[in-house]
Formats: sequence, structure tokens, C-alpha cells
Amino acid sequence: MPDYIDDELLPLAEQFKRSPLDLSGFLEELSDKKISSEMYEVLTQISRGDKLSFENIEYLLTVEADKDKEVLYKTADYFRRKTVGDVIPLRAIIEFSNYCRKSCSYCGINSTVKNLTRYRMKEDEIIGLAKRIKEETGIERLVLQSGEDLFWTKERIVRLVERIVDQLKMKVTLSIGERTREEYDAYRQAGASNYLLKIETTNPELFKSVHPDDLLTERLQYSKWLSELGYINGSGIIIGLPGQTISDIARDIQYFRDLEISMIGIGPFIPARGTLLEDCKPGSIDLTLKAIAAARIVCRRVFIPVTTALTTLSKGAQIEALKCGANVIMIGYTPIEYRKNYNIYNGKARVGIDLALEAIEKSNRKPPNYIKWGDDNAQP
Ligand code: SF4
Repeated sequence: MPDYIDDELLPLAEQFKRSPLDLSGFLEELSDKKISSEMYEVLTQISRGDKLSFENIEYLLTVEADKDKEVLYKTADYFRRKTVGDVIPLRAIIEFSNYCRKSCSYCGINSTVKNLTRYRMKEDEIIGLAKRIKEETGIERLVLQSGEDLFWTKERIVRLVERIVDQLKMKVTLSIGERTREEYDAYRQAGASNYLLKIETTNPELFKSVHPDDLLTERLQYSKWLSELGYINGSGIIIGLPGQTISDIARDIQYFRDLEISMIGIGPFIPARGTLLEDCKPGSIDLTLKAIAAARIVCRRVFIPVTTALTTLSKGAQIEALKCGANVIMIGYTPIEYRKNYNIYNGKARVGIDLALEAIEKSNRKPPNYIKWGDDNAQP
């Protein structure tokens, strides 16, 4: 058995079990914390195995008192430990094209952004990099991300996935946007196991305002297809989109639970140069952490990555996120000559393996046993 929760060990049938979670020892741990009556009520419902109501999720997102926030984070951390353990799986992400046909108003590589050098990595270049990542670090899980770039046709993506899965024996997560059901099916048949298609918000008006090219109903349909086709289904939201409310975020978290989403990326909004939202203020780190904690409590046995956006705003927040429910880190492997042109928001941080391992150590978590990494290494 591996020492971490692998994709295959996230059985969907068990993932959202409503059975009560035994909180006995945990509640005793909190006995000196003077829990508010609302928090006590939420914990009681959890211990009974109740499905948390919309109002309860909203409450978790609004706790302000230090004691209540501490209890929120400790509860989420307890759920993380009970459901996915202490080991932090690492995934290597390669952003292989910054061409995009869409004009999402928050995104720094959207099709309307000028003064951006567009690039596409070549298939052999991606394969060579993936091989090096595996050989030098031991990481076998690759996230292939791009804008919605139709140069990468179904046939090209299928061939790329097949080569990575068959020749390199690596697992592939795709994050290449909206495609047809037939294409999603072809990628799945080719061996892609995970798909990340973030919803960003489930509020229809807000969704429309930031996604002029997309329809929420269609995005929801795409996400359902991904589950039907057997992908480990990934989604996510941006905290702090202009106009977003706490109720919106609570509904997003309900959506993740009800649709049985298995990977949930929750990151703060960060403005991107050259976009309609470039002058808006960034999302709140505090609210992002509360949303991560609430998502862990509500959705339980899921992957919650520490988003690069959160690390961009604060390296300390990366560690905080690991302590309040997050359990995955994505390591950036996009080659340096391309990386600077994949600034989906301003000042995007680079999460290298050293930073990830430092965060794991500082948050008292464990690196996975497949990691080969030492002082003599230099990240590919
Ligand atoms: S968010 Fe995705 S689809 Fe939208 S513009 Fe950016 S890369 Fe394209």
C-alpha cells in the first residue's frame, strides 16, 4: 500500500458517506477553547452524521472570533487527517500552451490580452520534460494545463496522453478547458485519469459576467460528463471575484458536495494586467482559508490543493492552508522561457519542489515516499 491517498483510493461510493464521524477525542481536545454555540451546533450535527445546511456552511465562512476560527481550522484539520492522512501528494504541472480562444475577464492569458508572447510547447518537448520530472523527483502524476487552444486537437491530445501513460507510466490530469463529450471520452480512453475544469463560481450572473463566452448550464453539463466518463473530477472557485458574496461561496461548496467533486481548488482572486479586472483588489487570504476549511468539513474525502494563487499572496498562507484542510501541492515545471508568459494573474509565484517540501515540513506533514530529492538536485 502506498503511504498516501492515491486517486484509486478515493472510492466515490465511500467519499460522501453520511455516517457520523466519531468526534469524541476531538471534542475533548477542544474543551478548553470556549466554542461558540453556533460552532458547537455544527460540530454536533457533524458528529450525528447530518448533512450540513446552507446556513451552517455560511456560518463557517463568516466566523470571525479568533477562538471560533481556531476551532474551524482544527476541525478541518481533523477531517483531513481522518480522511486523507498526513502525507501530501505532489503533482507536477506543465503549462504547455498559453493560447486561448476565450476572454474570461480575470485571466491574464485571455485572448484579448495584448503584449503577451504566445507559446506552444512541442509534443517531444513535453514528453522529454515529463521523463526528467519522473527520473529526477519520482513524481509520477502530471497535470497538463493550457488555455483553450484548439491547435491541440483531439488527436494531438490523445497521442500526448498515450505516450505519457504508456511509455512513461505516468498518470495524467488534463486541464485544457471545455471540449466535447466525445473528446473527453477519447482522452479518458487514452489513459487520462483526472480532469480539472474549474467552475469558478456557481452564481449564474457572476459566472456570466466573468465568462462572456461561456454558459453556466454548459459548464455544469461538462462537469457531469467528466464524472460519467470515470474521471477523478476536479473543479474549483476563485475567492474574491468582484461582486461575489459569502452566500455564493457557500453554494459553491454545496455544489462540490452534491456533485461529488473529488479535487477542489480554492484560490484567491488576483488581478491580471491587461484584463477588465486589472484594477480590482485581490481576494482575501482569510476568506480563502475559511473556504478551504469549510470545503474539507463538508466534502470530506477529497483532494484540496494549495493553490499557487494563495502562495503568490503569501508563502505563510501556503502552510496555513495545509493546516486547515488542504492536502495536495502542485509543483510548477513549466520551463523558464515559457513560464513568464503564463501569468494568469500578476506576480504568479513559482512553487518549486524545495518550497513544497519546506511547506510540508513546516506544517508537520509528510512527503510521499516516492519522492527522490536531495541537496544535490536541481529542479528540471
Ligand atoms: S481562464 Fe482558461 S479559458 Fe478562460 S481565458 Fe484563461 S485560460 Fe482561457
